[in-house]
Amino acid sequence: MIDIPARRGKAVHLRRGQTVKVVNTAGQQVVDTWAFAAGDMAEFMSMEHSRVAIGRIIPTVGDTFVTNRRRPILTLIEDNSGGIHDTLFAACDRWRYETLGCTEYHDNCADNLATALAALGLAAPHTPSPLNLFMNIPIVDGNRVEVRPPVSTPGSHVALRAEIDCVVAFSACPQDLLPVNGRAMQPTHAHFAISD
Ligand SMILES: [Zn+2]
Repeated sequence: MIDIPARRGKAVHLRRGQTVKVVNTAGQQVVDTWAFAAGDMAEFMSMEHSRVAIGRIIPTVGDTFVTNRRRPILTLIEDNSGGIHDTLFAACDRWRYETLGCTEYHDNCADNLATALAALGLAAPHTPSPLNLFMNIPIVDGNRVEVRPPVSTPGSHVALRAEIDCVVAFSACPQDLLPVNGRAMQPTHAHFAISD
């Protein structure tokens, strides 16, 4: 298992057909997830295009995420986490924390993505909207969105299969001002493993 340290990010290469298993080690940790086509960082897994492709806002096992060019890139093939994930919220960034009252720098998923990609010698042209694994953002009264603690349990996981060669990146979300990562608001680490 590869560690995604608390409040930090990690990126890896995936070959077509490989699977990455993402484990919610402590149970309440949201993991922002991105995927970029190998060799072209301008093509990336797109939540707005994927919602069109799958016909829902919360993906279920068997659903395939697509890129901004509508090519399949990742398929959700296992999920024992309770099935609650988010495709609506942007990654947290320094400005999000400023609007929440932070006056000093706060760790954030957008910067974690950039740092994780830089470790592979890569850079994204911008921060795509992530697949927020384990994040619980229900639609209330058919329109409002609420931030609620995850429903996932310790050690539960999802598995994603690569449909093309790609780079996947994860951020153990450092949100500690809202119950995104549980009522205790204590971000933790998470883990992933790659298999053929
Ligand atoms: Zn975040």
